[in-house]
Amino acid sequence: MTASKSFLDPATAFDVLSSYSSNDGLSVTELFDSSTTGGLTYNDFLVLPGKIDFDAGSVITDSKITRNVTLKTPFVSSPMDTVTETNMAIHMALLGGIGVIHHNQSPEEQAAMVRAVKRHENGFITDPVVLSPNHHVQDVRDIKERLGFCGVPITDTGKLHGKLLGIVTARDIDFSSPTALLSEVMTTSLVTAPSGTTLHEANEILRNSKKGKVPIVDTEGRLVSLLARSDLLKAQNFPFSSKRPDSNQLYCAAAVGTRPSDRDRLALLVEAGLDIVVIDSSQGNSVYQVEMIKWIKSTFPSLEVIAGNVVTREQAATLIAAGADGLRVGMGSGSICITQEVMAVGRPQATAVFSVAEFANRFGVPVIADGGIGNVGHIVKALALGAGAVMMGGLLAGTTEAPGEYFWHEGKRVKTYRGMGSIEAMQHRSSAPATNGTATKNSPQPPSKVTTTENAATSRYFSESSQIKVAQGVSGDVPDKGSIIKFLPYLHTGLQHSFQDIGVRSVGELQSGVLSGKVRFEKRSAQAQMEGGVHGLNSYTKRLFA
Ligand code: GDP
Ligand code: 5GP
Repeated sequence: MTASKSFLDPATAFDVLSSYSSNDGLSVTELFDSSTTGGLTYNDFLVLPGKIDFDAGSVITDSKITRNVTLKTPFVSSPMDTVTETNMAIHMALLGGIGVIHHNQSPEEQAAMVRAVKRHENGFITDPVVLSPNHHVQDVRDIKERLGFCGVPITDTGKLHGKLLGIVTARDIDFSSPTALLSEVMTTSLVTAPSGTTLHEANEILRNSKKGKVPIVDTEGRLVSLLARSDLLKAQNFPFSSKRPDSNQLYCAAAVGTRPSDRDRLALLVEAGLDIVVIDSSQGNSVYQVEMIKWIKSTFPSLEVIAGNVVTREQAATLIAAGADGLRVGMGSGSICITQEVMAVGRPQATAVFSVAEFANRFGVPVIADGGIGNVGHIVKALALGAGAVMMGGLLAGTTEAPGEYFWHEGKRVKTYRGMGSIEAMQHRSSAPATNGTATKNSPQPPSKVTTTENAATSRYFSESSQIKVAQGVSGDVPDKGSIIKFLPYLHTGLQHSFQDIGVRSVGELQSGVLSGKVRFEKRSAQAQMEGGVHGLNSYTKRLFA
């Protein structure tokens, strides 16, 4: 007979637990203790599970990307010419994130893209395109071609604040001759709303009237603004959309460099309605960037400025002191990037994000973790380490909304994805997605079309104008990923489920839990990483969402 082992009373489990000197796993400071670890990547650690006592659907992912801009989903698309142009920027914003329009194109082309995003979905359209009865059907068709809509109010002066006489819509001109006068085709029985009507009331009128547009008029019948039914529908379909609270327009961000000519570029972008400027540099700790931030802050005080890139506290301090409203963190972690290999400079991304975010968050300056995001887990880890959002290039390239056409490569349907420091991108303006200035169109992609745009030089890698260009990125292709209309909701739902596993209901709760030591981590050996991936199968299909 063996003596029976005496076990502790299960009712004392929590008392026994509290007798341990620390919680299971590692605190974030232990995780990044540099006396025991080198720099860490996202794959080098895991977050330990917490307790689930709420629905995944109730998790809120609202997060700040700059001092004054909060998004409902912490997703930002990279300012790269194979990632963010008009279509991507519109859809990122509709789905609760934001797109940063690249600057490997002329200032005018970039400004046209900003304008298209700002016009895409409006509450009241306060500067609608207006024509007079003496314009022709062809004028409306031109507007349709250029701006994508053809619902045009007609006033006696052909301008806003003129007396409203009618409206021309697609149905009015379908079968008309291009030379017909608008006075002959316009609809004159109008449903209007008086100025002073709230957006909510105007939407009710729109809903009840079954009309496509409701012009808003003053007491003398003069046009003051316009409301579109399609915007009402969009608001229903995209409840998360990132909009300015004052105008209800989509938020738009765009990148510029730090050269003197970039000041002119930025002036055009601001005129087009830009909300957030991203100063695009691979090494942000430069006198050029400091001067640029100061100039922007004094010239356009209401513009939010995201500076970078940085990976150390010291770099961050320079940009915070200069007035940055947000910081972009990452050097050499991007999927197309060879900076660490060629320059021997950079930092593993998880360490960079934690180091900079811990510092910058003390000043109320949010951090965007830029590069190396390959899956939902990486996003969760970046947020846990203090980032307000993640910036993604490769993960969004290859979607329908990314610039360029699909083509076939080795039996797969793919799109081009290339580093902005690749020879190909630096030489374009060379082979860059050749924009035609038509802001609403997806630019044709693969590197077949060559447009040389004077003045389009980016200066992100300080090498674009050198005689010998030193590449810091590669050019390749990525598989077709379908539309971000499905992909971003997948990322969002994935985040909610992960937060539920961790036992936190929001980004704020995650980050405060990490800093207080409540949310714990574990390092992953190479073997642990293998264990955490699919293993031991003869073959399998990996479908991420349905
Ligand atoms: P339309 O019927 O051809 O005018 O097009 P829709 O109403 O379907 O779409 C027009 C979209 O363009 C809406 O999202 C509007 O908010 C937006 N938009 C931006 N500026 C203007 C403008 O000046 N006039 C009109 N009609 N729409 C505008
Ligand atoms: P990804 O999401 O593909 O991992 O990384 C995208 C990020 O890589 C971009 O937002 C940008 O910061 C960075 N990046 C873009 N092009 C280049 C490049 O040519 N070289 C380097 N070093 N980084 C790049």
